Amino acid sequence: MKLEIDRDKLLSEIEALAAISDAEPPAVTRIVFTAADVKARAWLRARCEEAGLAVRQDAIGNTFARWAGSDPKAAAIGTGSHIDAIPNAGKYDGVVGVLGGLEAIRALRRAGFHPRHSIELLVFTSEEPTRFGIGCLGSRLLSGSLSAEAANKLKDGDGESVEKVRRQAGLGGELEEAKLPTDYYKAFVELHIEQGPLLEQQNTPLGVVTKIAAPASMRVSLEGAGGHASGVLMPDRRDALCAAAELILAIESAARNTGAVDTVATVGICDVFPSAVNSIPSRVRLSVDIRDTDLARRDGVMKAIEDAGRAISANRRVAVHTELVNADAPAECAPTIVAALSDACRKHQQKFLPMISRAYHDSLFMSRIAPAAMLFIPCRKGYSHRPDEYASPEDIARGTLVLAETLAALSA
Ligand SMILES: [Zn+2]
Repeated sequence: MKLEIDRDKLLSEIEALAAISDAEPPAVTRIVFTAADVKARAWLRARCEEAGLAVRQDAIGNTFARWAGSDPKAAAIGTGSHIDAIPNAGKYDGVVGVLGGLEAIRALRRAGFHPRHSIELLVFTSEEPTRFGIGCLGSRLLSGSLSAEAANKLKDGDGESVEKVRRQAGLGGELEEAKLPTDYYKAFVELHIEQGPLLEQQNTPLGVVTKIAAPASMRVSLEGAGGHASGVLMPDRRDALCAAAELILAIESAARNTGAVDTVATVGICDVFPSAVNSIPSRVRLSVDIRDTDLARRDGVMKAIEDAGRAISANRRVAVHTELVNADAPAECAPTIVAALSDACRKHQQKFLPMISRAYHDSLFMSRIAPAAMLFIPCRKGYSHRPDEYASPEDIARGTLVLAETLAALSA
């Protein structure tokens, strides 16, 4: 089999999709179920149909484009990613895995390959949490990680429900039907830009992902007592911001103390009330994001944070309330799929790095219903989620070639 990637066509499609956007180029903004997203879906559907694939959408808009294998009843081989983009994003996040997946399928067809297992391109709805505050909405529903009932309750910033906006976007059916049976896929592989600098730094063109870190997030509110900055003397203070400052450092220590490089914790939001120069802060709200590749270790960090909150609360007479927003389990990629990707790299004499995905992806959820792994290509300086995100044509074509080879091996 002589596999050849049509690089020019693939690149022109990446440009064409980037133009369907609500931002000035080179920025891309494509938020789920907006007019730009609906237009991009229609454009993509036409590309898949042009390639001879049978396209269907489920109730949340996950799109499946299938190349039927010679044994159509056998579990399918899935590949794909997402096309939604956060405000002021770049062209490559998600898109490389979708259009690269499509080109991989076309390359296999041109090469005269005939799969035994059907090969399916999967485009996930709302990988980005921009609109509904939850990432991987489509893959959570597919994998049963989020119930239809919980999804129906989600609302966007304007108070519009998932149920309403998906119907406005032309999607019928019931969300309950989105969940896939656990024997639907024999394998799932996602091609993606690294969104980190390691491959570029190590001058290695490909990364085979062995583990996907998962986030847990918490909201913490602290309530002390306000007052005039001149009148309340220090022994009487119950300053919520001082308590928050102590807690932020305790959160940093909790992550450092695991001794594992994979543990990270971040306080990204600190809202102070009333935020006036001569007023003692009475209320503070913090966001906490904790990530790790090991579930027990990450849960240990969360417990350490709660313990610290209790101790600080007692010392400072400031009420500390922690609320869990979400806590997804990290995933180990399937050794069989990691091996298939590694073999495909070797077959094409490509160096690769086994690595950890520190960002999470739809594959995190797909791994709960199918053996799954990911293939990374470098992106310049690790930049992602910004307009100057960039992956080179050579790297995109190389990743697509290795993906095609892997799909061939898995579907034979
Ligand atoms: Zn992505």
